[in-house]
Amino acid sequence: MSEQLWFEPDTEPNPVIRVDGLNFFYGEGDSRNQVLFDIGCVVQPGQLVVMTGPSGSGKTTLLTLVGALRSLHEGSIHVLGHDLSRLDPTGLVRMRRDIGFIFQMHNLFDSLTAYENVKMAMQLNGGHSAAAMRERGTAMLERLGLGHRIDYKPRSLSGGQRQRVAIARALANRPRLVLADEPTAALDPDSTRNVVRLFKDMTVEDGTSIVMVTHDHRIIELADRLVHMVDGRIVSDIMLNDALRICEFLKDVEGFKNLTPTELTNVAEHMTKRHYMPGEAVIREGDVGHELFLVSEGEVRVERGGTEVARLGPGEFFGESALLSGERRNATVLASGPLETYVLGEDQFKAALEASASFRDQLRRVYFMRH
Ligand code: ADP
Ligand code: MG
Repeated sequence: MSEQLWFEPDTEPNPVIRVDGLNFFYGEGDSRNQVLFDIGCVVQPGQLVVMTGPSGSGKTTLLTLVGALRSLHEGSIHVLGHDLSRLDPTGLVRMRRDIGFIFQMHNLFDSLTAYENVKMAMQLNGGHSAAAMRERGTAMLERLGLGHRIDYKPRSLSGGQRQRVAIARALANRPRLVLADEPTAALDPDSTRNVVRLFKDMTVEDGTSIVMVTHDHRIIELADRLVHMVDGRIVSDIMLNDALRICEFLKDVEGFKNLTPTELTNVAEHMTKRHYMPGEAVIREGDVGHELFLVSEGEVRVERGGTEVARLGPGEFFGESALLSGERRNATVLASGPLETYVLGEDQFKAALEASASFRDQLRRVYFMRH
């Protein structure tokens, strides 16, 4: 039954992970101890899933089962389209190559340099020229702030640097799935920020799915989903709405920068997502305006009297002037290509103004700068 569902074509993307009725035990006979109880979970492409839970709740065990690093007892696990219980050893090895593993025991080769450790992972995957491997491996190490340590061996690196080499090694092949167990535990705040950014970019740009155990709030802020485990059970599994993503945008936007996190969240929670087709008008000059728009993806063209006056991209907003002045729309805004926006209605916009003097002042300032 579940096999059939798995291979059925569907408008939904095929899940990257599907776990059903999973039970797991350590030990044998009298010392047999159940540590996972009836786990069920589906992870879609591009999802950044954060797992939290007290020590001993089964997070690492679950990750190692999904990564086929230990074998299954009861239930089923499908990963990247494969039923793990049906893969032979060769199939398992091949499947694991599509997964980037970042575990605490990073097992770098002491005799190889940072770059050589990363290269080795790429060589195992095959199909890359020496030049391509050099370029990609170096780029990955640089992105993780190790540009000056490329030719160092692990023993000349700090714990945090070794951890970053392990991360570069896991990601260099652009795996479709990343399984990471507290990947930033040994890292300083700057490196953590780099790693977090890299993870998020991979989910957005390449559609990589990431399942990660962490208690780091910087990662939790970017997560699409929070799975919480207690005593071997998933006790909550929350899809985060777009509010956090909107906050990410808003806090970089001139008018919203000084809002407190609570004020930002209040605004974000009242915004809704709206798509436009290429060329479609979002607002028209002369219309009565009731909404504020934030560009989420794509670009818009702002025209006055038929002349282009500006282009706005992700994180930029428009439509505030009619709301602030009560006058009609002073510009037409057209979707340049496919466009995704977050929209804030007039009532919520006014409520936000009332709630925050700083918000009001900031918006007014931007408004007057534009006019
Ligand atoms: P977490 O990662 O959430 O801290 P773990 O998956 O490491 O939890 O552990 C879950 C439970 O399984 C704990 O009670 C732990 O003591 C036990 N456990 C973990 N690894 C082993 C092992 N290799 N042999 C026996 N018991 C283990
Ligand atoms: Mg653990």
